[in-house]
Amino acid sequence: MDEKYVDFAVNTVVELCKIPSPTGYTKKAEKYLQTVFKELGCKFYRSLKGNIVVQLGGDLDPLVLAAHIDTLGGMVRSIKSNGRLRITNVGSYPFVLIENEDCIIHTRDGREFEGTFKHIDPAVHVNGNLGKEERTDKNVEVVLDEKVNKREDVEELGVSVGDFISIDPRTKMTKKGFIKSRHLDDKASAGVLVSLARYIKENKIDLKRKIYLIFTTYEEVGHGGSCIPDDVVEMISVDMGAVGDDLKTDEYKVSICAKDSGGPYDYDVTTKLINVAKNEKLNYAVDIYPSYGSDVEATLRAGYEIKHGLIGPGVSASHGYERTHREGIKNTLELLLKYIQE
Ligand SMILES: [Zn+2]
Repeated sequence: MDEKYVDFAVNTVVELCKIPSPTGYTKKAEKYLQTVFKELGCKFYRSLKGNIVVQLGGDLDPLVLAAHIDTLGGMVRSIKSNGRLRITNVGSYPFVLIENEDCIIHTRDGREFEGTFKHIDPAVHVNGNLGKEERTDKNVEVVLDEKVNKREDVEELGVSVGDFISIDPRTKMTKKGFIKSRHLDDKASAGVLVSLARYIKENKIDLKRKIYLIFTTYEEVGHGGSCIPDDVVEMISVDMGAVGDDLKTDEYKVSICAKDSGGPYDYDVTTKLINVAKNEKLNYAVDIYPSYGSDVEATLRAGYEIKHGLIGPGVSASHGYERTHREGIKNTLELLLKYIQE
């Protein structure tokens, strides 16, 4: 594969990571994709719940490749009397993973305010217990970068209960090909799918199968994949590969998941994915994710009878400050490109 498609995927990942899109507030990421697909000349629509559905290829055996563009985030739960914000999490993560991260509060009238997730008593020189306490929504709060000392000050600014909070992604590309950022879950895969569409378009690949790319917007809360076009017979979630403990996936590989918390993936789809990866001599791993659920499981639970699979680039430190590598992006892109032509 021409490296320019890997570069394009990586650049798209980086651009997507920088767009705030906590679940429920994904409008800007949807807009970005709509602009990209318009430029590529692809047929697409936006569903009522904000999924971007792109159509490629012919008529046979309709297949969905789905990646999610929503991310973890937060919401203002209440404004404390001292002008700090109590938060509720959007998506699931331990609070220790957001402490000391910067954030943006997005008001419903379109304004943005900066702040930081802080422990309520964050100075080591004052609080001798700081290192020992478990972090919860009771002791991690948002400190606004505004001169506010009481609830009324914050209300006057226009910050309200129910405003979305996005976490600073701190996106960085290193010289050695690593991408470090929050929200590589699942923007790493979304970038891969965008580049796949560009490859197919520019190289005029004649696909026999009908391919839908679906960019979902409610995965982190469990129902991203719950609506798909009626003619679909198969769906592959393209989502980050888990890295850790006894798993073989790393940041350079495309990971093929055989089973996760939702049970085994379809025998034929998974076997075919493994065979394509093997034949193409890709750097891949087959793994069991002990604590993981995917969009396509939401599709099955919504009542669709389809075959299902899960693959994705290896992403370390998931739901924290994550990392992947351009080789993982490339292996995922190449596996998908071959698979859809088999
Ligand atoms: Zn994900």
